[in-house]
Amino acid sequence: MKKNKATAAVFVGANKPFELREYPITDLPEGYAWLSLLASGVCGTDLHIHSGNLGCGTPAIIGHEFIGKIERIKDGAVGGDGNPLKEGDNALCYIACACGKCKLCCEEDDANCVNMTATNGGNPDEAPHFWGGFAGYNYQPIKNLAKIPAEIDPVAASLFACAGPTGLHAFRLARRAGVDPASADCAVVQGAGPVGLFAVWYLASLGIKRVVCVTGSANPEKIAAAKAFGATDVLALAELGEDGVADAISDMTGGLGADLCYEGSGSRSAVPFGMRILRNRGVYLVPGQYSDQGKVEISPELITFKALRIIGSSQYSMNDIADYLTFLKENKDMLPKMRSILSTYPVSDINKAFEDAYKGRNIKTILV
Ligand SMILES: [Zn+2]
Ligand SMILES: [Zn+2]
Repeated sequence: MKKNKATAAVFVGANKPFELREYPITDLPEGYAWLSLLASGVCGTDLHIHSGNLGCGTPAIIGHEFIGKIERIKDGAVGGDGNPLKEGDNALCYIACACGKCKLCCEEDDANCVNMTATNGGNPDEAPHFWGGFAGYNYQPIKNLAKIPAEIDPVAASLFACAGPTGLHAFRLARRAGVDPASADCAVVQGAGPVGLFAVWYLASLGIKRVVCVTGSANPEKIAAAKAFGATDVLALAELGEDGVADAISDMTGGLGADLCYEGSGSRSAVPFGMRILRNRGVYLVPGQYSDQGKVEISPELITFKALRIIGSSQYSMNDIADYLTFLKENKDMLPKMRSILSTYPVSDINKAFEDAYKGRNIKTILV
């Protein structure tokens, strides 16, 4: 049912509870769409914003993983993924707006545009109010919408709405650097949150024989999830310590070390450890360090003596979202599993959702 107003959870300052505010749903200018909420993920980035570690003006509606049903759109609309869109379709919103003109944009690196803006930065007290993801409605440029195929459960898709495109972008950059991830015999993924789990799933889907997930704690739910997505081995640092994990990986690879390592934990101490467990000429993909956690000591000689290939990756582009949705279509049998991992809360319970997310109670926290 089309609504005239909806509720938004407004961020009013670091470490303060979100305020629930009701706003009207306004007229629609050319090139925009209104969507009603199906699922909106709480990402690590949102925790960094809420805790004051990532700057953000106030008031604001944060949240960048909005998946919704299109309630209002003009006939003949085409999304940023090239698919036609109509009312009733489900779509994933992409908040980034690259300039299309800078050197990065011109070289297919629009994910790292130097003039990047976002769709969720507006003041919610000003029309059209619903800029960001933590609200019952979302206002979005049509070019920032990707159609979710009808056979994909949009709520299940929210598990990796950000982690999936993030990972696919990192693998895209690896291929551009001449690395074929599928050629690895042993790939290690650091972290078993959404970013790590998606990487495990993707690497396993490439047919890699040994996909090892390294977790911090020995959380049974995370271990079970990593195995469900295809990890052949799950090694917990809390149980084995760094030496134990490094020895186990060395044993698995005949003393050689991992061919590829994917940093998906966001922990700064993961980086020197990733360099340690790689073999000579190993590939280190680092998309997971998404906040400034301070410094960490590394041994730069490892980069030289092991001749490591270290590939950073941040953000993602519309192509990566389209690839994510195609990947889900090709691996539909996992959608029920994906949905079972989500912890869902109504928007009105956002403060409880954040409390649980901070305490690490959920693998993925979703507003529905
Ligand atoms: Zn995110
Ligand atoms: Zn640009």
